[in-house]
Amino acid sequence: LGPTVTVGEILVEIMATSIGEGFRQPLDLVGPYPSGAPAIFTDQCARIGGSAAIVGAVGADDFGRLNVDRLARDGADVSAIAVVPDYPTGSAFVRYRADGSRDFVYNIATSAAARFGWSEAVATLVAKAGHLHVMGSALSMPSAVAVIDRAVEIVKERGGTLSFDPNLRKELRYDAETERRFSELVAMADLLLPSGEELERAAGVPGREAAIEKLLAMGIPEIALKEGARGASVFTADAEPLHVAAFAVTEVDPTGAGDCFGGAYVACRRLGSGIEEALTYACAAGARNVTVRGPMEGAGTRDELDAFIAATQRAAP
Ligand code: ADP
Repeated sequence: LGPTVTVGEILVEIMATSIGEGFRQPLDLVGPYPSGAPAIFTDQCARIGGSAAIVGAVGADDFGRLNVDRLARDGADVSAIAVVPDYPTGSAFVRYRADGSRDFVYNIATSAAARFGWSEAVATLVAKAGHLHVMGSALSMPSAVAVIDRAVEIVKERGGTLSFDPNLRKELRYDAETERRFSELVAMADLLLPSGEELERAAGVPGREAAIEKLLAMGIPEIALKEGARGASVFTADAEPLHVAAFAVTEVDPTGAGDCFGGAYVACRRLGSGIEEALTYACAAGARNVTVRGPMEGAGTRDELDAFIAATQRAAP
């Protein structure tokens, strides 16, 4: 029924090489790496063999070319990426703290990343989309929200499906409408892809069991819960929960794990995989991606993920 389309920020990431807090002194940095949660999702989706496209924007600069070239190389449809003159490609500077948390300096709202809208290219793409994947981070950009609203309507109208990854970022600004839109997207989703805290936020109740119960009772058919180094679980209304243990890897850079997980899960499900197979590929995609530096440098093709699965032990539960 047509490609998986996502809408949102396309960025470069530039990363501090030392662990510590913030950027208030000169630091050694590495990058630029192609990034932005929706771009990482799209790249992994395409790499594993799913038909994938992203709606977003980059500047007319090398950071933009880096992203577009990578996505195109990996098989994504880049026809709805606008190239915006006069604004630089969006960026995210990231530094890891010793406890694994991250400090970000984002340039999204004032960059090319936030400067796209409904265009002929977007209309053409959305008109043939079979699935729309929405990420919470994109809701910080009014331009993206307008495109998402329209795309949800069109894709649902033509019998397509919707997935929602509620990855709101504390560093991004959301307007007063966001809470309502967030709840609407949760309620409309055919597939929800939260991590722990996001699960409770999406359900609006504390506690994992209560949150899952409430979301299933609301009629959400499938919830894929990302559990970091513990793996992931899928909950559906009519079957027992299914858990897949994480692959045992040494984590070098956790950024992008959830997006790769999502890209692989959605692609596999849309290509006809059952839940267990999709979940295994998704866990492999997330785990493989954390073994290398850069948010999408570890995204894998089907062959690479098969080799990774064959060669990698499962982590103890
Ligand atoms: P997010 O990036 O959205 O916070 P997670 O950290 O839960 O999401 O990562 C998504 C998936 O990637 C996990 O469910 C798991 O399968 C895999 N993963 C992430 N980190 C690790 C890790 N350190 N070891 C093994 N697998 C991991």
